[in-house]
Amino acid sequence: MQGRFAIVTGASRGIGRGVALRLAREGYHVAGCSTAAGVRAEKTRGEIEELGVRTYFAPCDVRDSAAVEEWFRAASAELGTPEVLVNNAGVHRDRSLVLMSETDWRTVLDTNLTGSWNFCRTAVFAFLKQRRGTVVNMSSIAGLYGNAGQSNYAASKAGLIGMSKSLAKEVAGYGVRVNVVAPGFIETDMTDEFSGKKRDQALAKIPLRRFGSPADVAELVAFLASERAGYITGQVFGVDGGMTL
Ligand code: NAP
Repeated sequence: MQGRFAIVTGASRGIGRGVALRLAREGYHVAGCSTAAGVRAEKTRGEIEELGVRTYFAPCDVRDSAAVEEWFRAASAELGTPEVLVNNAGVHRDRSLVLMSETDWRTVLDTNLTGSWNFCRTAVFAFLKQRRGTVVNMSSIAGLYGNAGQSNYAASKAGLIGMSKSLAKEVAGYGVRVNVVAPGFIETDMTDEFSGKKRDQALAKIPLRRFGSPADVAELVAFLASERAGYITGQVFGVDGGMTL
């Protein structure tokens, strides 16, 4: 594992933090970004370093392609060439479609879809040169089934699936794999915002009778990133407690 390094976007908190810690436990050096430097990003970085691996943590707005290229250059100068990219950074701006502002539509598409495209374009180029690398893109069950009040979010997450399947076909011949994880209801800041009623309604639809944790998602991401998943590409995997059964 000497020198192997993984990129996790949106690593400051929530699922991204869980993934970053899980990959560090696998022995990967970890480069993480979030919108701004802050206490939470710093705390995650510290916890990862306690696991004995190196880190590169710096702010990067995934929507900004020039910033992504600059961040990637700096991370690579610090940690070498990455082998794993986890596109996890995401936002939601929920409203029914007819009342949604154009700004909220664009913010969600730009962050969740274009942001992932920006990082794929930059990192996969390096993967192709070394004929090795894996991408895991964080979609959502909303991208598979839609969700009232989330037309922007669902479109971005469905787009991510189409983008990932296409990219998987483009790069498989170079030994590069691309897969998608589609979480259900995972306990993070994103879902903390939901009202008690919305949480109760969601819980009633989950056969395993609990919300998921970032660690539940991170376990699958770590598997997909590893050689143990060496014959798996272009697939979408739910982590939702059976919510979509
Ligand atoms: P979260 O707790 O709200 O964390 C979001 C992360 O994304 C933070 O690290 C945030 O950085 C970062 N981020 C947001 N906009 C960014 C930008 N423009 N550039 C760089 N980083 C940005 O979210 P989460 O619940 O962990 O969700 C993580 C991913 O899983 C998202 O893609 C989400 O859509 C997906 N997902 C979540 C659930 C769920 O139930 N939680 C379900 C399905 C899918 P800052 O700390 O700087 O804001």
